[in-house]
Amino acid sequence: MIYADNAATTKMSATAVNTMISVAEEAWGNPSSLYAHGQRAKEILEKARGDIAAVIGAEPREIYFTSGGSEADNQAIMSAAAEGRKKGKMHIVSSAFEHHAVLHTLEKLKKEGFEITLLDVHSNGIVIPSEVESAIRDDTCLVTVMYANNEIGTIQPVKEIGEICRKRNVPFHVDAVQAVGHIPVNVITDSIDMLSASAHKFHGPKGVGFLYAKKGIRLSNLIEGGAQERGKRAGTENVPSIAAMAEALKEEIAKIAEKSAYIAKMRDRLICGLSEIPHSALNGDGKKRLPGNVNFCFEGIEGESLLLLLDDRGICASSGSACTSGSLDPSHVLLAIGRVHDVAHGSLRLSIGEEITDADVEYIIKSVKEVVEYLRGFSPIWRDLVSGKKEFIL
Ligand SMILES: *Cc1c(COP(=O)(O)O)cnc(C)c1O
Repeated sequence: MIYADNAATTKMSATAVNTMISVAEEAWGNPSSLYAHGQRAKEILEKARGDIAAVIGAEPREIYFTSGGSEADNQAIMSAAAEGRKKGKMHIVSSAFEHHAVLHTLEKLKKEGFEITLLDVHSNGIVIPSEVESAIRDDTCLVTVMYANNEIGTIQPVKEIGEICRKRNVPFHVDAVQAVGHIPVNVITDSIDMLSASAHKFHGPKGVGFLYAKKGIRLSNLIEGGAQERGKRAGTENVPSIAAMAEALKEEIAKIAEKSAYIAKMRDRLICGLSEIPHSALNGDGKKRLPGNVNFCFEGIEGESLLLLLDDRGICASSGSACTSGSLDPSHVLLAIGRVHDVAHGSLRLSIGEEITDADVEYIIKSVKEVVEYLRGFSPIWRDLVSGKKEFIL
């Protein structure tokens, strides 16, 4: 099997698995208990907090453990909205291609009376900082823009947006779930006030993540019931997963330069090979993208069928097309960069990791070429395109 869906989830590293097991076996006490066995768990928890904080340039007390990226996004946005409401500031700036954990939270706030400005991400999938600046108003209580997009991998000008938010005194939240562990992220140099991350996107366990909230940012109490996580999220901490998350992150960071250079080289070979397919197009900027992300549209086919046939050939990939997401609309991300419905339906995302080999890359290119050609042979849309009844878009 060739696993090319690392943006959906990653395989846990051996270090993460071993850490999870050893902590579960040896330090299973309650970190809130005062006897030594509990305190051993507490030490592990606080070491993980310190290690994670160090990776992103934060202080340990600014790290709050969560159940993952979605929870961190919800918590950050709802907290900023609660503060905004107190001050009569009920306007939020975000982008059109955020993850649903952000967009659906914003939709909920809209129903509660907030005004939401969703910035254009243009055809290259990148927000323009000056447009963030123009969107900020006196009543803006939050700017939330993702670090890197989960579908098309484009990396946003976070540092520039952060500087604008600092200057205008508006809190800045960043969904960095696709970035942390893959590209360098630093909350100080990027002027970030809140940041979400998730362990299962960097070879840690599922169901655990963290929210960074800069000292002075007020968080709401997400769960009541205890003093854990500075009273913001009650409940006995998931110590084995948290420890595994910290170890996984440190491991990725230790090899980040070498790993990302290799993966990016493989990515570029995939892009080069797949570009040879007629009537295809790369989605998102060719350069400002995550090292492991390849995303294409192929005209005249359905992404679903492509995925199933690639699965038959042992390739795990993903698509922004309809039925995979259980709705009739294609990916909001592809629509946001201006792909029309028909074209957006024929999309393929390959998100590769460091285990990929030269042979894998060749095999993927060959397979996608063959499968696209095969599917076009059956496609009524393709027939109309070839006969000139419909015009090619790509
Ligand atoms: C995966 C992902 C999330 C959700 O994280 P979970 O830990 O799965 O809840 C949020 N944002 C982005 C950009 C993601 O890729």
